[in-house]
Amino acid sequence: MSNCYKCNRELISDETALFKKTVDRMADEFLCIDCLAERFDTTRAELEKMIERLRESGCTLFTK
Ligand SMILES: [Zn+2]
Repeated sequence: MSNCYKCNRELISDETALFKKTVDRMADEFLCIDCLAERFDTTRAELEKMIERLRESGCTLFTK
């Protein structure tokens, strides 16, 4: 399992998947959803909505 490279929190698979989807598909270091929200100047809630949309659209990075 990976940890956020900024705050060092342990990541869940949705967080690494979101990072791959929005930042770098080939990434091997990741940000947690909170640090990613800060980076994109958005909110954690918006990113969670994005995860749900991607999951529903069948994006293979996100597991059910
Ligand atoms: Zn973090």
